[in-house]
Amino acid sequence: MSILEIKNLTVTFHTKDKITRAVHNISLSVEEQDSIGIVGESGSGKSTLAMAILQLLPKRIARIEGEVILDGKHLFQCTDEQIRKIRWRDLAVVFQKSMNALSPVHKIGTQMSDIYRIHESKISKKKLKEKIISLLEMVNLPSRVYDLYPHELSGGMMQRVSIALSLMHNPKLLILDEATTALDVVTQGQILSEIKELEKELNLTRIMITHDMSVVASACKKVAVMYAGNILEFGYVKDVLVNPLHPYTQGLLKSIPTFKGEKKNIRGIAGALPDLSVPVQGCIFASRCEFATDICYQVKPTEELLSGNHRVACHLVGGMEHANVNHS
Ligand code: SF4
Ligand code: MG
Repeated sequence: MSILEIKNLTVTFHTKDKITRAVHNISLSVEEQDSIGIVGESGSGKSTLAMAILQLLPKRIARIEGEVILDGKHLFQCTDEQIRKIRWRDLAVVFQKSMNALSPVHKIGTQMSDIYRIHESKISKKKLKEKIISLLEMVNLPSRVYDLYPHELSGGMMQRVSIALSLMHNPKLLILDEATTALDVVTQGQILSEIKELEKELNLTRIMITHDMSVVASACKKVAVMYAGNILEFGYVKDVLVNPLHPYTQGLLKSIPTFKGEKKNIRGIAGALPDLSVPVQGCIFASRCEFATDICYQVKPTEELLSGNHRVACHLVGGMEHANVNHS
């Protein structure tokens, strides 16, 4: 069953001098207990996509088209009050530095309790303390964290508190936006495996936004490769990583550093993201693609559906019926 349906989502930013298309016509279906990695370089629109789902984009400049349906509810038709209720309760998010939102002068336990009470006020003080401590323990933090201040925690502990906060009301969907990016490799690995364990226990569904293919490889079942606001390739991690078909995905995979390799061996993709305020007629990746031919600059490739629900938007991948269906 689908927990989240994103249908033809487009996000444009309207500023004084230009219109920037940050997310372009994205459709994605997130099934119950899925773990979907959304991967791409910074500036590819991944966070904008998450913020659009959560309705956290500044209304003054952001225009959103399309539909987002969470567990049968059309989010763009909800009132601000309804959305506030949905956040945390049904849909929780952890950002790279979520803890920056916490006050430095209050203890972790007090702040977690206050946040809990926003959605669930009828709980006794004693019960709430037990609940918070069990949440801390669930993310492998000692109960003494309850009485610590944010500055007394390491980066890894802070992200664990953020994850504990996000799980407070058993959300249907958890969005992690570069949630482990700032951490050292060992702590990142530990937290990723803890998240996978928790998911089994709590039946969680997860979207994981990252610029790092190795995070997707170790922690996700499916992957959507995003570039300049478009999804260029989608499929099971085991298919996309073993048999990447889009030149951009191939480039991203080549740029993963290996443990053996020195930093100088990391191969980036030449060129920069296109200017999203300038409409592109053909393939959005053409300006950086080593395989681009004339047709790539003139005609936008349609998405090809291959076996195993592997989908790719590239003129090089063809020979099958064109399919303009949802990613699932
Ligand atoms: Fe490269 Fe053309 Fe494929 Fe785009 S459609 S990724 S430019 S080969
Ligand atoms: Mg981002």
